[in-house]
Amino acid sequence: MPAPLKVVIVGGGTAGWMCAAAMVGALPPGLCSVRLVESDEIGIVGVGEATLPQIKDFNDYIGVVEADFMRATNATFKLGIEFVDWGFKGSTYTHPFGIHGKPMGGVPLYQYWAKGLQEGRTEDIGDYCLPIVAGRHNRFAFPTTDQDGVNANFAYAYHFDANLYAGFLRGFAEARGLKRTEGKLVDVTLRPVDGHVAAITLESGQVIEGDLFIDCSGFRSLLMGQALGVDYEDWTHWLPCDRAMAVPCERTGPLTPYTRSTALAAGWQWRIPLQHRTGNGYVYSSRFISDDEAAATLLANLDGAALDDPRPLRFRAGRRARSWERNCIAVGLASGFLEPLESTSIYLIQIAITNLLKLMPGKTMDPGLVAEFNRLVDVEYERVRDFLILHYHLNTRDDAPLWAYCREMEVPESLQHKMALFRHRGHIPKYKDGLFAPPSWVSVFVGQGLTPAHYDPLVDNLPADRIVAEMDRARSEVALAAEAMMDHAAFVADYCASPAAVSGLKRAAS
Ligand SMILES: Cc1cc2nc3c(=O)[nH]c(=O)nc-3n(C[C@H](O)[C@H](O)[C@H](O)COP(=O)(O)OP(=O)(O)OC[C@H]3O[C@@H](n4cnc5c(N)ncnc54)[C@H](O)[C@@H]3O)c2cc1C
Repeated sequence: MPAPLKVVIVGGGTAGWMCAAAMVGALPPGLCSVRLVESDEIGIVGVGEATLPQIKDFNDYIGVVEADFMRATNATFKLGIEFVDWGFKGSTYTHPFGIHGKPMGGVPLYQYWAKGLQEGRTEDIGDYCLPIVAGRHNRFAFPTTDQDGVNANFAYAYHFDANLYAGFLRGFAEARGLKRTEGKLVDVTLRPVDGHVAAITLESGQVIEGDLFIDCSGFRSLLMGQALGVDYEDWTHWLPCDRAMAVPCERTGPLTPYTRSTALAAGWQWRIPLQHRTGNGYVYSSRFISDDEAAATLLANLDGAALDDPRPLRFRAGRRARSWERNCIAVGLASGFLEPLESTSIYLIQIAITNLLKLMPGKTMDPGLVAEFNRLVDVEYERVRDFLILHYHLNTRDDAPLWAYCREMEVPESLQHKMALFRHRGHIPKYKDGLFAPPSWVSVFVGQGLTPAHYDPLVDNLPADRIVAEMDRARSEVALAAEAMMDHAAFVADYCASPAAVSGLKRAAS
């Protein structure tokens, strides 16, 4: 048997520990020896608190027990994101993790809804979607496995404390034999013959050699950006927000099973309910507001007392030109960053890891594997980029220059194509790789005010009275299913209450 591949992970934030946990949890013993190097002194970003449903697949795949993980990270359930004031001031819609009703005659239900619009009907498209209606009433239940039932057509994600998630995965990985080295990387040695990374040197003088290096060093991108000089593609002309202020506050009111994103003059504010506190942040463009003003706006918009001072963060939307270069793979912030509007960063980490596990190299880096990995990462980044841009671009706000800029900017051709198809006939192209599925596009198109001029002609295969009856039935099925769900706070208290949160959850549930 060949000697194990020596894998060195640089960085112990969410990216580093997800990588480490996946490698020790999923790869056959003996294939790799994995070492993670991190510096407690430098610390982690620690603000990734909202996720997408795919994270459950990741946790299940590596063998994490859901209730244990939720208890350890003060997690709550997330059924989607509520967008307030985005298309125009006073508007509200939800991007749910589920479909707007079941298709009829092979045609998605929203096409029948689009026909109804033309006939003057005014039903809210959200009324057909269980996670949206459940969210309105702060309800939660696990989806069922019955493929026909309305309760089977949704998924869920989590809100959690990102610092605690990294710590939880560390415990998981170390219990399975992962070696962790504390220390600050100060130098990287490249092999003269091919420029591959040969070793890293720590401040202590310790030299760590490896066959494969995974750069999870965050925005510093110590290996990919600094040592290997891989360029960063800047996308700030499309996604102008470049800073955030983050602050936790006391939890008040009911425990909502969704993230809230409220558009503000120079960006938007997140509200993420955890078991023991609420996470908040103002993501903004420094072209349109000062840091002090952003901090003051954030503090004025909290729904409970602030538990800390606002913490500033800086970033630049974009990605590395390549995420796999020579014998180094960048994962997480080291490979790029797209702002947290749709909670996609941890998803991008997860997808990089699962692709790496599928394309695991030997000691020589096969160029085919490298090219395929980079292709998959590129597709994911571009899909997320377009979806985020859509939120900014489709707006009729006239109250602040950021929104005028975004409305008038030229968007990528791939997005222009999607918008044109939807505008014309509500069509949404499906693709094999990458986020987001058609129901997500429907929510944001319609929520931001773009409705189709025509509907799919196949809709007219069904008689008009049957359409009305089926639509009425679909809405009441959703309403009844939501009513039968449990109160979210009571569900969390029952299933995974963290010791810090027990009494607060009981109060919220009563
Ligand atoms: C404002 C904001 C909000 C966000 N919200 C969300 C969200 O809601 N959902 C989501 O999915 N994502 C979100 N993210 C992204 C998320 O925070 C990151 O994707 C995630 O935390 C991964 O970070 P990381 O592990 O790549 O980097 P980091 O957390 O920065 O970790 C870097 C690691 O590298 C180590 N390191 C750095 N330099 C050295 C050195 N010289 N020697 C040794 N070690 C070193 C550090 O100690 C640390 O362990 C958000 C990001 C920002 C900025």
